[in-house]
Amino acid sequence: MDTNYNRIKGYKKRGFDTTERGDGSMLLEFLGAAHEVTGSCHFIQADGKNMLVDCGMEQGPDLYVNQEIPVNAAAIAYVFITHAHIDHSGLLPLLYSRGFRGKIFATKATCELCNIMLKDSAHIQMSEAEWKNRKAVRAGNPKVTPLYDMDDAIGVLEHFIACDYDAKVEVDESVTVRFVDAGHLLGSSSIELWVTEGEQTKKLAFSGDIGTGNRPLIRNPEYIKDADYVIMESTYGNKLHAAPPDYAVTLAEVIKDTFIRGGNVVIPAFSVGRTQELLYFMRRIKSEHLLPGFEDFEVYVDSPLSVEATNVFHKNNSVCFNEEAKQLIASGINPLRFQGLKTSVTSDESKAINFIQKPVVIISASGMCEAGRIRHHLKHNLWRKDSTIIFVGFQVPGTLGNFLLNGAKQIRLFGETVEVNAKILNLPGISGHADKDQLTQWAGAFSESAPKFFIVHGEDTNTDAFAAHLHQTFGYDAQAPYSGDTYDLVTGVQIKQGQRQRTLKRTKASKASTNVFARLLTAGERLLGLIHKLEGRPNKELAKFADQINSLCDKWSK
Ligand SMILES: [Zn+2]
Repeated sequence: MDTNYNRIKGYKKRGFDTTERGDGSMLLEFLGAAHEVTGSCHFIQADGKNMLVDCGMEQGPDLYVNQEIPVNAAAIAYVFITHAHIDHSGLLPLLYSRGFRGKIFATKATCELCNIMLKDSAHIQMSEAEWKNRKAVRAGNPKVTPLYDMDDAIGVLEHFIACDYDAKVEVDESVTVRFVDAGHLLGSSSIELWVTEGEQTKKLAFSGDIGTGNRPLIRNPEYIKDADYVIMESTYGNKLHAAPPDYAVTLAEVIKDTFIRGGNVVIPAFSVGRTQELLYFMRRIKSEHLLPGFEDFEVYVDSPLSVEATNVFHKNNSVCFNEEAKQLIASGINPLRFQGLKTSVTSDESKAINFIQKPVVIISASGMCEAGRIRHHLKHNLWRKDSTIIFVGFQVPGTLGNFLLNGAKQIRLFGETVEVNAKILNLPGISGHADKDQLTQWAGAFSESAPKFFIVHGEDTNTDAFAAHLHQTFGYDAQAPYSGDTYDLVTGVQIKQGQRQRTLKRTKASKASTNVFARLLTAGERLLGLIHKLEGRPNKELAKFADQINSLCDKWSK
C-alpha cells in the first residue's frame, strides 16, 4: 500500500495480551497483511528473543481479524521496519504505549520519515478522538481515547537505530540484519534476517513493498539471491501495469490547457513520495520548456508534512537517489527545486494562495481529499469552470476524491454547498508497487536456493493465486498464510493454524455494499444541494418538501 491514508479499521480487535511464550523454539507467526493488503506485521521468536518485522496500521477495507501479538509488548526485543508507510509502521506508538522499550532497526531515511509520519499519525488520532468526543458529549455518550497520542509517538521514536543499506548489522550474538533497497519509497527496504539458535541458523528474507523500477528519484529494487524462507508482498500479483506515459509531457498539456482558460491546476497528493515525484516532473516541465508562454508559472506545495518530507528527500539524496538524480545534483541541479516553486507552511501563507490573481499549480494533501488543506483549495476552485483538479493516486470508494472522480455535481465543504464546475481529471498509472511480471522477476532471483515462500500483502484470494503462480513458474513451495498461522523455522512445518475469522461476510458483497453506500451518500449530497437551490420558493412548497423528507427519514430510521 503506498498511501498514508489514515483510516483505522478494526484496531480495537487487535490487542496486546500479556501471555509470555518463550518456549525456546524458532518460529514465525503471521499477524497482519495476511490475505490482506495493509497492517503488515510478522512475529519471529528465536533464541528466546521476540521480534517483529513491521508494525503497521490497517487502513481501508478489513477482511480478517488480525491475531494478537503472542507476547507482551514489553517482551519484544527488536522491531525491524521495511519502510515508513503507515501500514508498515503506524502501530509503533501503540506498541510503545503498551510497554515496548526495545530497539527498532530501519534505514536512515526510514527513521527520518517515521519521525514526521508517526507524529502526524498521532496528531490525526488525537484530532479524531477530540472530534468524536465533542459529538459524544452532546449526545450523552461515553468518551473515546485516541489509539495513541503525541507522547507515545515521541517516545517510540527514541528507540530507532539508523542502519546503512547493504551493511550486515549484528543485532546480538544470534540475530543479524541487512537492509537492501526495495525501490518503493525513499528509504524503503527488503530485509534479510539471520536468526540462530543452538547449531541452527536460518535466513529469512522479507520483501517489504517492492517498487516498479525506473521511478523518478529513487533506485530500482535490489534482488536477494538466497534464503531459507521468503515473506513476499503480492499487492499487484494479478495485474500488469500499462507502459507509463511521460508524465512531464502529460502534466504540461493539462496545465497549458487550464492556464489558457485562466484557471488553477489543483493536485491532491500524498505528502511523502507522490508530492516529490510531482516536483520532479514540474522541474522537468520547466527545464525542458514544455510550457511555452507560461515559462514562469508558479507551483505551490501547500502541506507542512510535504515540506518536511521533501527536506528528508534532500538530506538523503547522496545515498537514496538513483544515478540520474545523482548526476543532476553533481551538475548543480537540484531535482526537486526550480524557479517558481513556493512552499507554504503557516495557515496564513496557505490562505494567501487563494488571493493570487494569475493561474498557478497547487499541490496539497491529503491525497484522497479527506482532510488537510486540499479541502480549502477545492472549495476555492471546484466551482470555477476554468480550474482543473488532477488526481494522481487511487481513490478509495467513499472518499471525497472518489465522489469527485465519479462525477459528483455538488459537494459539501465546511458547511457550504460547492458546485463542481472544474475539470476533473485522473492521471492513472503512477504506481509505487511492482506488477505481476516485476514481482515474478524479484522471486526468480532465489531460484538456486529455492526457499519456502510465504505470500502476504495482497487481496484475499490473489495471494493464493500468486503463490500458485510461483509454484508453477519456479517449482517453489509457496503458500499464502492467514493471520495466526505459525511455522517452526527449523523444520518448516506449520505448528499452529490461525482462526481465519472474517470481519466482513464476503469480499464481493462488501465491495458492492461499499459502492452502493457511496451512491447513497452522493444521493444525500444531491438532496442537500437541492434544498439550497429551493431557498426563496413559496413557503407552502418548502413545507411540503420538508414533510416529505421527514416522512422518508421516519420510515428509514425505524
Ligand atoms: Zn508501502
